Amino acid sequence: TVVLDKTGTLTEGRPTVTDIWANGSSPLTVLRLAAAVERHSEHPLAQAVVQKAEAEKIAIPPAWHFQARVGSGAEAWVEDQWIRIGRLSWLQEMGIPWDPSWSERVQNWESQGKTVIGVAQSQSLVGLLAIADPLKPTSPEAVQHLQQMGLEVILLTGDNPTTAQAVARQAGIQRVIAQVRPDQKAAYIRSLRQPRHRVAMVGDGINDAPALAEADVGIAIGTGTDVAMAASDITLMSGDLRGVATAIQLSRATLNNIRQNLFFAFIYNTLGIPIAAGALYPFTGWLLNPMLAGAAMALSSISVVANALRLRHFQPPKPAGRR
Ligand SMILES: [Mg+2]
Repeated sequence: TVVLDKTGTLTEGRPTVTDIWANGSSPLTVLRLAAAVERHSEHPLAQAVVQKAEAEKIAIPPAWHFQARVGSGAEAWVEDQWIRIGRLSWLQEMGIPWDPSWSERVQNWESQGKTVIGVAQSQSLVGLLAIADPLKPTSPEAVQHLQQMGLEVILLTGDNPTTAQAVARQAGIQRVIAQVRPDQKAAYIRSLRQPRHRVAMVGDGINDAPALAEADVGIAIGTGTDVAMAASDITLMSGDLRGVATAIQLSRATLNNIRQNLFFAFIYNTLGIPIAAGALYPFTGWLLNPMLAGAAMALSSISVVANALRLRHFQPPKPAGRR
């Protein structure tokens, strides 16, 4: 099984704000309040909000008492009001009323693969933001290739199920585990691991690090965070997911090579030692000349090294039936 993170792994990881809906006030007010809080956050979605505000030339007001809520959102004190921005379920948990008539808009955006976050001012929702993060162009091909290699591909994301399903559909992934908090990612990987079932996790973010460490093989995206790379076994030099298939194919080729080398290492000895010990002497009068034995010893080393060097010319097999 290969488990993929969504943002920054399957997608470009450069989310942009595509839609703003204001509940009464203006979209620019929603963006201004959101950016004031998000300016202090390191979350990729937060950067999208700040970039949008800067693009709109909005004067971002200062924020105090900023607090990040891992997996939920962030909050801060802006213009004498407590502003919360984050996932809609979290805002509702915080007691912010939700009007059912807003749900249709949210579902519409989510079915396009967009992530919807809410902005609340004290105890009322002031607006919604839709953020899109396009797939990397090579992701569908990479997923298809992994599936052709007989691997199950799973999308594991903290995003909500509708958005996750929409992104998975675009990438050709059938199995989606959505709304997983960062601390639950590693637990999910642990649940997949079975004695004869190996699990690879591919991720880029700080929140992927425990899952990368938990998996049999942790694969970090080279364009991601240092923490993810430190926690992983393999780092892909580029952000291209096709490297995952290449890494697995190279691993398989290496294991095959090791098996062949064990054959080369033992075949000379299993043939040579009985002959040298005189196994054939009673029937044919053959013994092994020590010079030949020495040559066989050297030949076995040469065979093993020469065979191993073939891996230098390893070319990953191309996926069948490329689109
Ligand atoms: Mg990520």
